[in-house]
Amino acid sequence: MICLGDGSEACQYISLGKFLDRSGKVDHVEVVRCLRCGHGVSLPPLPNVAFLYQDRESQDFQPDAKGLSHEIKDIAFRSQARKLLRQAGGARGTILDFGCGSGQFTRVLGEMVGSASEVIGADMHSEPPAELAERPYLGPEELGSRKDSFDIVIALHVLEHDDDADGLLRTISGYARHGGKVVIEVPNVDCVWARIFGKFWDAWYLPYHRHHFTRNSLVRLMQRNGLQIESVHGVTVPTMGRSFADIAGGTNNLFWLLLGILAHPLQVLGEVLTRNSSAIRVIAVRK
Ligand SMILES: [Zn+2]
Repeated sequence: MICLGDGSEACQYISLGKFLDRSGKVDHVEVVRCLRCGHGVSLPPLPNVAFLYQDRESQDFQPDAKGLSHEIKDIAFRSQARKLLRQAGGARGTILDFGCGSGQFTRVLGEMVGSASEVIGADMHSEPPAELAERPYLGPEELGSRKDSFDIVIALHVLEHDDDADGLLRTISGYARHGGKVVIEVPNVDCVWARIFGKFWDAWYLPYHRHHFTRNSLVRLMQRNGLQIESVHGVTVPTMGRSFADIAGGTNNLFWLLLGILAHPLQVLGEVLTRNSSAIRVIAVRK
């Protein structure tokens, strides 16, 4: 693709080698990174990724969240929702949570804003996830008619899921009205955990993650697609538990979640000291 560095030439890639295929559907998966802009891309190309998400079993939909895990995630999501709203200048009008997955964050955000605004979840399935059974949800067909209409469009950990990052970003931001806010969050490939855990770093997540952003590559991608950057924030996504589970070859269950909570202060400290968070959130305005 066109390099996300300063120049206009194409990316100059080097291979990081073979990675683990988490889907069991692609076999040989690999990541290449650009020597100029630092942006990473997953191979082989998957022009249509729909086959990876035919059920909601992928980790992105967090189908295992029940009982105590569910309560813990509610607490973490409330804290994230509060920060996100503050960074986006407060809740107003209609808010779209594009790629809402399990819908748990969407529900928490909706409960938090109350009647100040309407929070609507949207994803690729026509039926809402269980969390949004009682709340507004739009499937792909209904969402198509809502372009240029939302005051805030949020897409958390969505943009890295499609080979055509420019196209997906234009689709996402196209749901915001002109002058509306667009909030994009993705994992940060420059974070210390990518170096420490190597290929076990949870956010490589191949083949589901197609792009691996740096702070600059995300900002440049947004700028070249008609978005005016307002602010850039580091976000600590609690991924320690899942990374430990990956190393141990275990599944993502309560044990690893609790271990991740115990390791969370260490994670925050590592990210503060290295000045590189595990995820990057950019708040922008659609011109
Ligand atoms: Zn590049």
